[in-house]
Amino acid sequence: MHIGEATNLLLKKSKKTVCVRENMYDVICSIHQDLQHAGYKKTFEELKHQYSYIPRKLIVAFINACSICTNRWPMLTPMSSKPNIANEYMLQVQVDLIDLRTQLDGDYKYIAHTRDHFTHFSWAIPLKIRKPYT
Ligand SMILES: [Zn+2]
Repeated sequence: MHIGEATNLLLKKSKKTVCVRENMYDVICSIHQDLQHAGYKKTFEELKHQYSYIPRKLIVAFINACSICTNRWPMLTPMSSKPNIANEYMLQVQVDLIDLRTQLDGDYKYIAHTRDHFTHFSWAIPLKIRKPYT
């Protein structure tokens, strides 16, 4: 926005740049990327430090719509409290039992799904009973 010779408006009280509506998206996007998608709080603090009159709701909506941030957020209910760190094949596997008693396939009632944490290979084994083979 150009008013006379000036390119930016400054708020008299705080001496911060007034971000006009037409530039808000670009300003939020620029700050958010400069902070390397640091999240709402840091983005808001930096914007508040440099500009005046950027609505908080707009920043929240921007962060919620940011594809990089939404893919990076942790799950609300973590699968386990400790990270699974495996550095060798078959050192650590995860086994899930899928109950198919309502959709029987002959005598098979369950599927044991196993996943190796190192290679991320998965395999499934049909089971007739729920007990381990001995
Ligand atoms: Zn982001």
